[in-house]
Amino acid sequence: MSVHFYIVATPIGNLSDITFRAVEVLKTVDYIACEDTRVTRVLADKYGFGAKLFDCHKFNEKERSEKIISLIDDGKTVALVSDAGTPGISDPGSVLIKELRERNIEITSLPGACAVTTFLSQLPRDNEEYAFIGFIPRNKKHQEEILSKYKYTNCVFYESPNRLLETLENIEPERKIAVGRELTKMFEEVKIGSVKDIIDYYKNNILKGEIVVMLYAQEQDAASEEDLKTKINILKEEGFSPKDISKIISKLYGENKNKVYKLVIE
Ligand code: SAM
Repeated sequence: MSVHFYIVATPIGNLSDITFRAVEVLKTVDYIACEDTRVTRVLADKYGFGAKLFDCHKFNEKERSEKIISLIDDGKTVALVSDAGTPGISDPGSVLIKELRERNIEITSLPGACAVTTFLSQLPRDNEEYAFIGFIPRNKKHQEEILSKYKYTNCVFYESPNRLLETLENIEPERKIAVGRELTKMFEEVKIGSVKDIIDYYKNNILKGEIVVMLYAQEQDAASEEDLKTKINILKEEGFSPKDISKIISKLYGENKNKVYKLVIE
């Protein structure tokens, strides 16, 4: 495989959190497409890659795709980096990647820092399931819709410190939640508790920097499981297949598809 395009993860705070391979690739590629060249310049100065940066952000990604494709057609190699973490994860990249894939250009990703995985790896969790929703919508109604959709799944989202308290006020006070702030940085902090506890804490403590949140899945009570079984039986009687029933119920009620499927075939 002859790769001409590399997606390279960069640190989310601590500048040492970058792989040897990432530095090697960033040193050897012909060009580096950056979300913001000023941010990447700091990393470039530290690790010694520099004169080949150009910007590629959400406002010029489409236009830059053409430039990158023509560079690759000319036999050049290009790396994509964002300001922090993994490009394409709540960051620019997907428009460009779609264009490259449509042209069958070989792409590879260099794994590395990402706020979601950095956070999840240090949280107590009962299972591996989670829904990542990126930045939580600002609109209260959209927030409610998305949180209700994933009510019974651990739900991970990015949020700004300026809006965190307002968002938390929109969630049931007794729900369990974890907030990660400034991960990998000097003032890293992880708080786990009820929504009410977290609101109280941040009303009295510093709330700035970068934030990632996991709202723990709401536990299902027996009554709602019975209710689910009743709905399943109605759909069974109507002749729907187990697969369709799990799809319909999970879409309508934000239930986990595998869990519904298990109940259907019970
Ligand atoms: N691509 C990045 C990644 O791989 O995680 C995410 C980019 S997104 C534009 C930036 C958001 O990620 C921040 O607003 C914050 O919600 C979260 N984030 C990034 N760095 C973080 C950190 N060090 N601690 C906590 N959250 C962080």
